[in-house]
Order: sequence, then structure tokens, then C-alpha cells
Amino acid sequence: MSTATPSPTSPPLAKQTTVGNYFVSNYPPFAYWKPEFVPGFLAALERPPTPTPSTHFALRPSDIEPRPSPLALRPSPFAPPLGVYAHIPFCRKRCHFCYFKVYTDKDSQAIRAYLDALLKELTIYAGKPFVHGRSPRFVYFGGGTPSYLSVDQLRFLTDGMKRLLPWDEVEEVTFECEPGTLTDHKLAALRAIGVTRLSLGIEHFDDHILEINGRAHRSKEIARAYAYAREVGFPQINIDLIAGMVEETEDQWRMAVAKTLELAPDSVTIYQMEVPFNTGIYQQMKAEGKLVAPVADWDTKRRWVDYAFQELERAGYTVGSAYTAVKDKTRTRFVYRDYLWAGADLLSIGVASFGHIGGTHYQNQHDFDAYVAPLAGGQLPVYRALTPTEDERYIREFILQLKLGSVSAAYFTRKFGEDPRVRFAGPLATLRDGGFLQPNGDDGDRITITRQGLLQVDRLLHEFFKPEHRGDRYA
Ligand code: SF4
Repeated sequence: MSTATPSPTSPPLAKQTTVGNYFVSNYPPFAYWKPEFVPGFLAALERPPTPTPSTHFALRPSDIEPRPSPLALRPSPFAPPLGVYAHIPFCRKRCHFCYFKVYTDKDSQAIRAYLDALLKELTIYAGKPFVHGRSPRFVYFGGGTPSYLSVDQLRFLTDGMKRLLPWDEVEEVTFECEPGTLTDHKLAALRAIGVTRLSLGIEHFDDHILEINGRAHRSKEIARAYAYAREVGFPQINIDLIAGMVEETEDQWRMAVAKTLELAPDSVTIYQMEVPFNTGIYQQMKAEGKLVAPVADWDTKRRWVDYAFQELERAGYTVGSAYTAVKDKTRTRFVYRDYLWAGADLLSIGVASFGHIGGTHYQNQHDFDAYVAPLAGGQLPVYRALTPTEDERYIREFILQLKLGSVSAAYFTRKFGEDPRVRFAGPLATLRDGGFLQPNGDDGDRITITRQGLLQVDRLLHEFFKPEHRGDRYA
């Protein structure tokens, strides 16, 4: 582990896990998205998309290495790639570490009302000049637990979505699942619907760890769901793990990595446990007057992820970002991530969901009734928005792509008109001084962070923020 002195601007190299957000998923921080900026978002929807060269969205696995992307060779499309995200906020049980908007008490009538609301929302978008006539390139079902829906509910939702925005140009359909909700019948239906990437929220294989962390599933359900999913033949099966769950020991983490390797999924995603304010774990800490969360400290979590990456690499996997490893990098892609991190448009539907349209960020109302009610009156349920400046867009894209471990300076110079080695000279020097930046490669184009940098990249990204956006936490 590096012992480099923390910089004065990034969150300190914390030892213990205390309450707050660690993961950086967007920029500028959400605290700067405001209800008063919603009119700017609504105005953006009334304009057709700005014609954009396809090379501005050429961030693909093939672009991460210095060779041409297939997308870059296509004729320039008129608009940036468009994705659709559908938020399904239902779960069997609320995990103690969960900080998402989820409901565990909705009956089939309430779920049907929610699905109707999703389709109403998409109908409004489909009629807007910004969206009209465009086809999504990727579709993502997240939550919550999308696999909580029944086969009939799933067909109703996806048939409706396809009628509004056909999926004939879709390159990837991702579907998040909780293993205990999957049957062979449902998995076959998901594949028939067009899901290409099944993402299994396994988190751990040890029944005690699953139970003490409030997960609904157990190891038996993992084995059964994984075997069914393989039989059905999804192009990509991803396993999610969390390093540093409550009560987890070093041996249990090693066991989780070994079990993952036994299953040989196409990709593995590993998150380091964080404890945001709205989690059950924090509620208990508060009740007990504790400041330190009962989970592994940050040094341990980084070491565990490092161990997992090394084991995966030994088994032939390639580490492709701070959180992911893929078995075969020539065929396994994360289309939604690579398009989004290159600034693609994301039509996000559902309660509390986050989207990005024509250069404007938005988030929907975060309560069930507040989300459904405006749609009944034909209004979009947008709660807050923000249109970043050109410089903030540059920062956003640069920090998101830095999570891949290596970025092309030429790509950013082409897109934003300024070499990132000049624009970000200060923060890059800080990373270099801390031992987190690799020396320039042969072609001098790549900006590459070290494995130790990658393991704590979310902390380091604050270096690149504008001064007014810097702080201890990202909430
Ligand atoms: S399954 Fe996922 S979304 Fe549902 S409660 Fe657990 S962590 Fe939250």
C-alpha cells in the first residue's frame, strides 16, 4: 500500500470506514443540481440533438488501447448515441448497506401503476424533438431489483418500451438481477426479450455474510440461478461482489474470489463497501453512537480488491477499470459505461433516476407518489437539473474515463480543444508525486494510473474538481 502523503484537496487517505459516499458517479456533484434548473432541461428537450462527430464517442474497449475503434470507422451519425435507463425500485428485502430508492411493500397493483408511469414517461420523451426518431444504442434495467418483476410484467414493460423506441439498433441490454428472484422460466424470458448482459448481484457466497448484511438470497440460490443462466446462453454474465461487507474476514473474501473463479463469469464487478447516510448500517451506528462503520477499513478493502484482481489476472482475466475484470476482452464489452463516460445521452425513466440529455443532467422525483402523480397529468416528473459548463463537461468526462485506468490525450484534445496534460497539469502532477501516475508510454499519448491509483481512484478524482466542488464527501 502506498504511504504517499495525501494531497490537500482530495479526501484524506482514510483508514477507517466512516459514514459518507466514496463512489464518484457523475460531475458536478449532485448537491449542485437544483429544481430551479429544470426549465433549462425542458428547453433542451425541445431542441433537436446537436450533430456530433462519431469520433467524440469512440470510447470503446478497442479505444482504450491505441488502435482504431470500429465505431470511429462508421459514418458520422447525426446525433450522439442514445441510451435508455429504466429504474425498477422493488426488492424482496432492503440490504443493510443499500442507499438506493427501493420499496419492499408494493403489491402487484402498485407495480402495474408504476410500469404504466414508466411507459407514460417514455411516451412523453419519445414525442420530444430531442428524442424523436432516434433509436437507443443501449438499454439498462437497474434498481432496485429489475428481476423482481414477473415474466408478464417484464413483457408488458419491454413490449411498451420497444413500441415507443425500437431496439433494432441496440448493441447491449443490461439487466440487474438478485439471484433469489430468478427461475429458468424468467431467465428464458429475459433472453427472449433481448437481454444480452445479465448482471448478478451476488455480493458474497457465504450464507452468514449474506444474512448479516441483510441480503435476501443465499448461496444455494446463487448456484441454481447461475446454472440456469448459463443454460439459457446469455452473451455476457457478470457477477457483482462487494469487498468489505459487515463481519467479513480475509478468509471469507478469498473464498468469495475462489468461488467466483469456479463459476468463470464473463466479467466480474467489485465494489468497495461504502456506508452512505441513508443505509441501515449508518442508522445502527447512529443509534449506538459509533463513528466507525463495522466493516473492513479502506486499506483492507483496497488490498482485497488488489488480491481479487491478481487472482483474476492469473486466471486470464483483464482488469478494465477500477471495478471490473473481463474474461475475454475481445468479446466482452460494457457498452453503456463506455458510451456514458464519453458523454452519450441517457434517457432515464423511473423514480429518482439520473439522466443526461443534450448536455444537461437531470434527476427525477425521488418518492413514489411524487414520481407517479405528474405523469398522470402528462408532466415529466423531473426534480432537479444542471447544465454543466463546457469546462465542467471536460472534467466530467476526464474523471469518468480515468476510472478505466488509462485515457488518450489525443481523444480529449480532439473533443475539447485543449490537451488534458495542459488542462489538468496540476492534478496530474499531484498524482505523479503520490506515485499514482505511470510514466508516459511509448507513443506519449496515454495517461495511465498505477494499480494503487486505480484501487483508490474515486478519492483521487477530487483533485480534478473545480475548487468550489471539492470536499470531503461526494454526497
Ligand atoms: S438488492 Fe440492491 S437495490 Fe435492493 S435493497 Fe439490496 S442493495 Fe438495495
